[in-house]
Formats: sequence, structure tokens, C-alpha cells
Amino acid sequence: MSKSGVSATKTKEYFNRYMEGVEKRNSGESEFVQAVYEVASTIFPYIADKPIYHEMQILERMAEPERIISFRVPWSDDDGNIRTNRGWRVQFNSAIGPYKGGLRFHPSVNQSILKFLGFEQTFKNSLTGLPMGGGKGGSNFNPKGKSELEVMRFCQSFVTELYRHVGPDTDVPAGDIGVGGREIGFMFGQYKRITNQFVGILTGKGLSFGGSKMRTEATGYGAIFFVQNMLQQIKEDVEGKTVLISGSGNVATHAAEKVLQLGGKPLTLSDSGGFIECSDGLTQEQIDWIKELKDVRRGRISEAADEFKNIVFHEGKRPWGVTADIAVPSATQNEVNGEDAATMIKNGVKLVAEAANMPCEQAAVDAFVDAGVSFGPAKAVNAGGVGVSGLEMSQNSARIAWDESQLADMLQSMMKSIHDSCVEYGEESGGKVNYLQGANVAGFVKVAEAMLSYGHV
Ligand code: NDP
Repeated sequence: MSKSGVSATKTKEYFNRYMEGVEKRNSGESEFVQAVYEVASTIFPYIADKPIYHEMQILERMAEPERIISFRVPWSDDDGNIRTNRGWRVQFNSAIGPYKGGLRFHPSVNQSILKFLGFEQTFKNSLTGLPMGGGKGGSNFNPKGKSELEVMRFCQSFVTELYRHVGPDTDVPAGDIGVGGREIGFMFGQYKRITNQFVGILTGKGLSFGGSKMRTEATGYGAIFFVQNMLQQIKEDVEGKTVLISGSGNVATHAAEKVLQLGGKPLTLSDSGGFIECSDGLTQEQIDWIKELKDVRRGRISEAADEFKNIVFHEGKRPWGVTADIAVPSATQNEVNGEDAATMIKNGVKLVAEAANMPCEQAAVDAFVDAGVSFGPAKAVNAGGVGVSGLEMSQNSARIAWDESQLADMLQSMMKSIHDSCVEYGEESGGKVNYLQGANVAGFVKVAEAMLSYGHV
């Protein structure tokens, strides 16, 4: 029984009814429903003795985006054919600041995925302590195999619609899967050309036109700083630990680099074709080579096995069967299922930190929590990226540029403070921390308080 007398059974009943409504209103949007389930299952027990949240329908309102913009993106390919993609911006929640969140260009992008990402982003941004609301956007455009000019024409067409919905005090998008420095440059250039304004409407910009130092590294480095905090909580350290990492993009390669810098051994990286394994631990030279392969040559991770003798490529497989101490999934959503989780637990993985967004299916999350594996959820672990994006916004507004070491210190202390918030709201008897609950509740409280203050909006 909670203080006000709402029993656990009643709470479960309210939660089930709430989820029935969410499923009904969002039918066919499985990723979005999954994300709401994960958050609401920890918030309902927290608000059991706080009837105001129920009366004011806070969770119902939080699960409904403030606005979804969907638009046509026509562009012409190098052969002169007109191609049409679909673009979206999901402006999810602006209770604590302008909408903020990445743009994803990938063939799998649809409204459900962007709603899940925008919903998660709201809590994540709140956790950073900076005044940023939640949003997400993108397109089902596949940049893979496209020429530089095709990507440029696509980005220009995308922004020709998007520009009217964004602004430094309204909505400030950033990169995500398939959107890196090159795409941000093309989009910022087109925005500037259409509006005749040089303002911070995108983050992740190049350093010569308003970008922030440390932004490229921030998500991967921040994730490993979070892991470091999780380990310190149980009086351990990254030094000497073996780490499984998936993906080979921005987040994965920088996570691998920070593991190495802290004395750990990154054993794996991957892409959608399979994973590479290096039982000696990847070196800085190998990580740099992979960054160049992916960022510049846009090649496949399998090529690393041709280049380096101590690297083995496993075609069509994910890295979760390799024995290690820690796993940091850093590629995409739902890349770890219940079976993978069971294998990792059997192999002795003691800590899992989600550097990608929602990489673990619910069955995997449940398995880790039940087995006592320390589990860091994405909204806390990968918040360093948007955190430094927030700092890029501050630098743009103030027309200043902080140096790398200042920003590195700010990132490190932001990750510590996010970790401390998770401990504040997630510490259980015996000192064990339920990071899932801690991150959800800590992210929820600030947004909910702001929504309560605004009345029925
Ligand atoms: P990138 O586009 O740089 O890299 C994505 C990586 O994931 C690539 O190696 C890609 O391989 C791999 N990948 C994509 N889809 C699949 C799949 N279905 N199966 C296996 N591998 C796959 O993206 P980021 O590194 O920026 O983002 C990775 C994750 O981190 C995403 O979930 C993103 O939302 C999240 N994130 C990113 C932030 C950032 O600052 N960049 C901030 C917070 C979260 P391939 O080349 O074969 O497609």
C-alpha cells in the first residue's frame, strides 16, 4: 500500500487500462507503444500516492505528441529521375524548452519509430538539466549508395519544407543515424539561404560555422563516463574490463575510444552485415582506421578483417555471444533480444549500458534486471550527445566558443549528475540502483511539474 492507500494491485490495474488506451490510439505503432510501456511501468508506482498527476492526466498528455508534421520530399537522382521520400518532424513535448532531437535518414524510418524516439527524447533532455523539450524527425531516405550530390539535393529539399517549422527558440534538430556532419552542413546551408539568417537552428554543425567542440565525441564518450559512474557505484572501474560494442558509427567508435582511454578492452564493433572481433582489444590505430572507413570511404566493417591480422569478421551475426564483462549496444533499436540477453548473462556480462536508443527489447531488459545485471537505460546513458548539443545552443546564442577541455569537463560532470539523479530516484534497499526507474522518474518529474504549472495545455 502506498501512503495514500493506493494498493499495488490498483496501480497495476490503472497501468493496464492506460496501456490499453495507448495501444488503441496508436495501433500498429509497436516501437512507440514499447517505449511508452517501458516508461509508464516505472512511473505508475511513483505516482500512486500523487493523485494530482492522475487528475491532470499528465501521463495521457505526455504520450501524445504536441504536433507531427509529415511532408513530401521530392529530389532528383544523378540520372535525372525524380524520386519521392517522406519526411517527418515529431514535436513531442516543449514543456521545458524548445523541441530538441535528431534527424534520422534510414529506410526503416516511419512515424512509430520517430514517435518512440521523440517520446524518449523528452525524458532524456530533461535529465541533462538543460532547458530542452523533446522532438525527433527524419526520412525513409537511404543515404547508402547515393552520391554526394544526391545526398545534397535530398537534404536541400528536406529543409525546404522543414525550415518553416524550426527556429532557435522553437525547434533545434540535430543528427542521428544517417545524418552526420556532411548532412547537417547541407541542411544548414539551405536554411541560411532560404531565410537569410545565420542562427543556431541545427546542432552538430561544423566547427567553422557555429559547431561545438566535443559534439562528435559526446554521445560515445558520455556513455562510457556513465558506465564509469555505474562501476564506481559498486566500487569497480573500467580498467581491465572487456567490452562488447555493436555498431561502427559515431556512437560506437567513440565509445570504443573512451573504453580504451580508460584502460578497458573494446572487443567488438559491427554493422548491418555482421561483427568484427579482436580478442586483444581494438587499438586506437584500428579505431581511427574504422572511423575513416565509415565516415569517409563509407565502407563495410568486414573490410577491417582484411586490413588487420588480429581481427575476425563474423558475417550476419551480432556480437552478443562473445564472452565479456560489459556490453554497450550502440547501433540501433531492438538489436538485443531475450535470447541474446540469456546468452550474455550465461557468459558473465555484469553490466549493460544502452548507448543506442532502445537497443534492448523488453524481454532482454526484463532478463537483465531479473538476473541482477546492472542495466543503464538509453535516456541516461546516451544523454551526453544532446547535452553537448544544448551547450552548442548556448554558445551560438552567446556567440562564443568554449575550448575542448572545458567542454570535456562539462560533459563528464553532466554524466555524473545524470547518474546521481538516477541514484536519487532509483536506489533500492541494500544500495542497489534500479537505473531504469531512476532515469524515468528523474526525467519525468521536471517535465510533469512544468506541465502542472501550465494548466490544461
Ligand atoms: P550512425 O549512422 O553513425 O551509425 C549507425 C551504426 O549502426 C552503423 O554502424 C550501422 O551499420 C549500424 N546499424 C544501423 N542499423 C542496423 C541494423 N539494423 N543492424 C545492425 N547494425 C545497424 O549512427 P549513430 O552512431 O549516430 O547512432 C547509433 C545509435 O545511437 C542510434 O540508436 C541513435 O539513435 C543513437 N544516438 C545517437 C546520438 C548521436 O549523437 N549520434 C545521440 C543519442 C543516441 P550500417 O552502416 O550497416 O547501417
